Amino acid sequence: MHKFGGASLADSAAVRHAVDIIRRHAREPTVVVVSAMAGTTDALLGVAQQAGAGESRTVASLIARLRSRHAEVARALLPAGRGRADALACISDIFEELEALAQGLRLLRELTPRTTDYLASRGERLSARLVTAALEAAGTKAKYVDAIDLVHTDGVFGQAAPDFARTDRSVQRTLLPLLARGIVPIVPGFIGVTPEGEVATLGRGGSDLTATLLARGLAASRVSLWKDVPGLLTADPRVVPDARVIPQLHAREAAELAYYGAKVLHPRALIPVAGRRIPIYVRPFGDPDSAGTEVSERAAPGRFPVKALTAAGGQALVTVTGSGMLGVPGIAARTFHALHVRQISVSLISQASSEHSICFSVPEALAAEAQESLEREFAGEIGRGEIDGVELSLGMATVAVVGLGMHGTPGVAAAVFSALAAAKINVVAIAQGSSELNISVVVEERQAAEAQRRIHAAFQLSRIAGGGVIRPERMEVILLGFGQIGRTLAAMVGQVRRPALDLKVAGIIDRSGFVFDPQGLSSRRLAALAGEKKKGVRLADAPRGQPATAEEAIQHIASYALTRPVLVDLTANDTASALELGLMHGMDLVLANKRPLAGRRGVSESLWQTARARGRRVLHEATVGAGLPIIDTFHKLTESGDRVERIEGLLSGTLGYVLSEVAAGTPFSRAVRTAMRLGYTEPDPREDLSGMDVGRKALILARLLGYPGELSRAAVESLVPKWARSLSLVDFLRRLPELDRAWRRRVDAAAAEHSVLRYVATVTPSKIAVGLRAVPASSPLAAIKGSDNQLVFTTARYKANPLVITGPGAGAEVTAAGVLNDILRLAGA
Ligand code: ADP
Ligand code: ASP
Ligand code: MG
Repeated sequence: MHKFGGASLADSAAVRHAVDIIRRHAREPTVVVVSAMAGTTDALLGVAQQAGAGESRTVASLIARLRSRHAEVARALLPAGRGRADALACISDIFEELEALAQGLRLLRELTPRTTDYLASRGERLSARLVTAALEAAGTKAKYVDAIDLVHTDGVFGQAAPDFARTDRSVQRTLLPLLARGIVPIVPGFIGVTPEGEVATLGRGGSDLTATLLARGLAASRVSLWKDVPGLLTADPRVVPDARVIPQLHAREAAELAYYGAKVLHPRALIPVAGRRIPIYVRPFGDPDSAGTEVSERAAPGRFPVKALTAAGGQALVTVTGSGMLGVPGIAARTFHALHVRQISVSLISQASSEHSICFSVPEALAAEAQESLEREFAGEIGRGEIDGVELSLGMATVAVVGLGMHGTPGVAAAVFSALAAAKINVVAIAQGSSELNISVVVEERQAAEAQRRIHAAFQLSRIAGGGVIRPERMEVILLGFGQIGRTLAAMVGQVRRPALDLKVAGIIDRSGFVFDPQGLSSRRLAALAGEKKKGVRLADAPRGQPATAEEAIQHIASYALTRPVLVDLTANDTASALELGLMHGMDLVLANKRPLAGRRGVSESLWQTARARGRRVLHEATVGAGLPIIDTFHKLTESGDRVERIEGLLSGTLGYVLSEVAAGTPFSRAVRTAMRLGYTEPDPREDLSGMDVGRKALILARLLGYPGELSRAAVESLVPKWARSLSLVDFLRRLPELDRAWRRRVDAAAAEHSVLRYVATVTPSKIAVGLRAVPASSPLAAIKGSDNQLVFTTARYKANPLVITGPGAGAEVTAAGVLNDILRLAGA
């Protein structure tokens, strides 16, 4: 059984794709249920409304638009000939009937639920005709079967409930013979027949229900619901951007989510198959090879207390209060009886143990009626002052937190409340079902989105549908920057072999645009892209590249719910806003780029804050000392209770190289030129000589130690004299030898004192100093040769004998290795 939702039938390309999916499965007996093309049901309901209000102009244009859209799709899908002519004729008939009906409505000006259903049913019938014709054109035997002949209901218009027994019989009688002949029946979803033989709809989203109903009658082996989402997610992705696919959940959990408003499933869709061992798969239309979510009777081990959450807005809270309720039996029963008589269904009830009040939620539209019926019921008590009255709070939402594993797991409710309290979200009422499958909280509707994000983060649901951190199976790397380091890293990622980890580069982004594949880019493709990029081809112009800003690229990538995305910043740009966006969408960050952390304090603080609020991690080992474990060492020391008082060291491979050459007798100008030739410097060596790069690294370290301020120019000594700063690069290089004599003198003077010159960064919690220093020839810093970095940690424990870390501090290979280490650390591998 396959059901295609509206979004999966948005245009001719989508219908063609649906046809491909059906054909792929049609070797087995296959039944297809379709929704109306995206937006059609809304448009038809619009027609009904407007016609009922006598608005003939709007009605005509709505109908014309729908008609041309369907005809266009038929023309694009079907080759000229008999099949196309038939389909177009059928579309024409349907629209002529619609127009006549709208005309009649306009005159009568009376819109009944029955006419509304009659109009709305046309959308599914149109799309089912189109899919049938397209399948036949593709050479698959298919037949349109109207739901009127299959789905029997109680006849409540707009909300019809199916009659299982009768439907089972019709389904078997009509569909089994077709299946036996290898024909694929195509059935319009959403509609059924009333006992009087009229058409009624099953409620919005009802095609899901049609699919499970037919599956029940046929004892289907499985149901695939093809939707525009990667599966059933831990939350609505439009509200919680880092929602994740839940690989499997129990039918009761899914039913609870659907009932409490998760828009992904019709609230009653699971009832027909309850207890029948027919698994349902919510599958991504855009990615048919992916498994999506399995909804079945299988109960996965209760490792994860909470699986998912959802919210239903538009609720009102009704409270009945009064001291006279204390110990008086029957108040609750009378309350709910009064509501029952009016057919008002209550979605959440809570009674405080003081029995001073009963409080429950109802749909806002019914609130006034509920209030009025209760005031009447308790008129006597109110008159005697035993009940104060019946109060309404409008604009509420119920957030439901769902998971079978909550049963018997202490602290789930507490975790929900502390997450909300931390965000200053007021909980108006709570209820926990006795099944302990669901905890519901009522909050003000305007805070419902934030409440969901907070709870989602509190249970770390973005770490794959569980209350605990589990080792990820998949991890998707997104490279921001595809220069030398990015290309080196991409190749390294392809070589990682860890049994529990499937690490892939899924996206690469440069200044021009991006290349992305949710399944991961193959090593071959990455190598080809790297080759192109090296030749100067921008990603926007690469095969399947798309032009975009970094923010647009991240937004696009985030619209695919990836399992465990890591955004890796390898640029040297101001990427803070792109990184923030990544965090908001549930990405962890790994940085080699210093700028976001070494800019104004507000910028870096905001990154850390967003990360904390979203439960994300930011690792940045490669921002200081390339692959050397400097930041890691800092964290290990502090975590073990040590206090780092000072970090001092050589943080520039370039300056290290130049200074050791000059000490060995090479003229300064020649040392700089050689460093340039060896690729140790930035294109303009003054960037290195000015000390700004070291200054940034020093600031990052200082901030780790708690340094509250900014980096002042005065804290960084520049090795570029004032007069040389404004020269062109060519002039600067030409006049470079003018500096040689002064450098010689400095070096000799230091040597006379048994010292050598080093460009040293010193940071403490209250100070940053970066500049040229003569250090004793016996000190660890003096022993450093060439482009190595060295850092000396002085801590409460390592005082007399400081902790020293030395090693290569520059180069694409070591930097990429440092970044890769961070990525693996996030993976927990
Ligand atoms: P169909 O195309 O089959 O009618 P729907 O539009 O009814 O599909 O359902 C998919 C939509 O449900 C998605 O666009 C998504 O925004 C929304 N949604 C809400 N909650 C969830 C959830 N927990 N998991 C997946 N999608 C959800
Ligand atoms: N087309 C109907 C709706 O939009 C039913 C469905 O899509 O399932 O609600
Ligand atoms: Mg739907």
